[in-house]
Amino acid sequence: MKIGLVGGTFDPIHRGHVLLGVYARQQFDLDEIWFLPAGMPYFKEGKKVSSAADRLAMTRRALDGLDWARVCDMELRREGRTYTCETVEELNAAFPQHEFSFIFGADCLDQLDSWRAPERILAGARIIAASRGSGADHEAMERKAAALMEHFGGEICVMPFLELDVSSTLVRERMRNGQDVSDLLPEAVAAYAERQGLYRDDAQSSFPAVVFDMDGTLLDTERLFIEAWEEAEGNASPALHDALVAIIGVTRERSEEIIYERLGRDYPYEARRLAVDEVFRRARENGTLPVKDGAAQILRTLWRKGYKTGLASSTERELVIPELEAAGLAGYFDAVICGGDAARGKPAPDIFLKAAEALGTDPARCLAVEDSRNGILAAHAAGMIPLMVPDLIPPDAELRALAAAVCPDLAAAEKWIAARET
Ligand code: ATP
Repeated sequence: MKIGLVGGTFDPIHRGHVLLGVYARQQFDLDEIWFLPAGMPYFKEGKKVSSAADRLAMTRRALDGLDWARVCDMELRREGRTYTCETVEELNAAFPQHEFSFIFGADCLDQLDSWRAPERILAGARIIAASRGSGADHEAMERKAAALMEHFGGEICVMPFLELDVSSTLVRERMRNGQDVSDLLPEAVAAYAERQGLYRDDAQSSFPAVVFDMDGTLLDTERLFIEAWEEAEGNASPALHDALVAIIGVTRERSEEIIYERLGRDYPYEARRLAVDEVFRRARENGTLPVKDGAAQILRTLWRKGYKTGLASSTERELVIPELEAAGLAGYFDAVICGGDAARGKPAPDIFLKAAEALGTDPARCLAVEDSRNGILAAHAAGMIPLMVPDLIPPDAELRALAAAVCPDLAAAEKWIAARET
């Protein structure tokens, strides 16, 4: 495929960046445009740059729904300073089947000879240089491009572009002054920057991030799990039911121990597990995995309003990702932390702490939405604000005391959050 690359600090990403992709794709017949937030240049022109997590989250929101656009976090994952020549080489090594064009604005063309190894960039990618702002001098750009090609080789094309007087600097300035930015960037990006307090001194919300448990909270999988297990058992006893309720929200390893402790060492744990796994596999494949009412709605609302959203599940990643995909919820998370990612499962705080770290948010400023006892204990131990939406286990006095609130369903949780917005 022919891939166009738009790289930038994206602090924040704005309409100019997205339109660069739109125009280059049309004019150069490119199949996809990949947007690459630059690695951590802590200081750009002596100024502090927003965190990688925030810039990535804004980029994802800006491209939401554009099927030709992808976010590539390669530069963010690389240690140390980001050099475009290394990015181009890494991309060619990883995707030898693709042909790359690097798209950038005229300001970058002017500076290209001061970048590290322009000849290595041009050896691995064509450059498409777009005019920038009003009063662009196309002839000067053509002359500059010719001189650079003569010196460094490769191919540089000049692309006449919209006269957009938009820059990230202008967005930051306007937001700092509390001015409207709706003409400069997509609404979901502005809402995110606002809620996270990125370009203001005062943070906007007491909890700018919301971390969700998956099973029993977003998916109605606890019920399915118990039904499938009891069905495999044939004749379900109250002791078995209690043991199954006790393993809700714990890791697979720990659940095995609990079952043996309660039902004896001879209990056919493995056989039952296999039968239940088969029921889940079929549900994933058939698209019949039960999703909790209001799950997509609350995630969409939070995303649109600029909250960071995380998933913190005790279940292993190999199951979490396909289940989120089957449920149509996969695209809504800025970070997904699963059973194997943390040292200890819930009720230990580790999974929630990892989620807060991945979101770049202090745990004390994260709301944790949970259905189970182990989940509420874990969220509380992590120092988050626990919000309980009970599933199979009604809250007792201890859970009520630990939770900031108990909501009967996700629609009520959404209202509870909205009521706390400033
Ligand atoms: P800042 O104002 O913080 O310097 P910026 O708006 O220039 O930021 P960057 O993330 O530094 O944005 O730029 C990424 C790429 O997008 C660069 O190649 C830049 O030339 C290009 N670009 C940004 N804005 C425009 C624009 N309005 N027209 C054409 N190209 C643009």
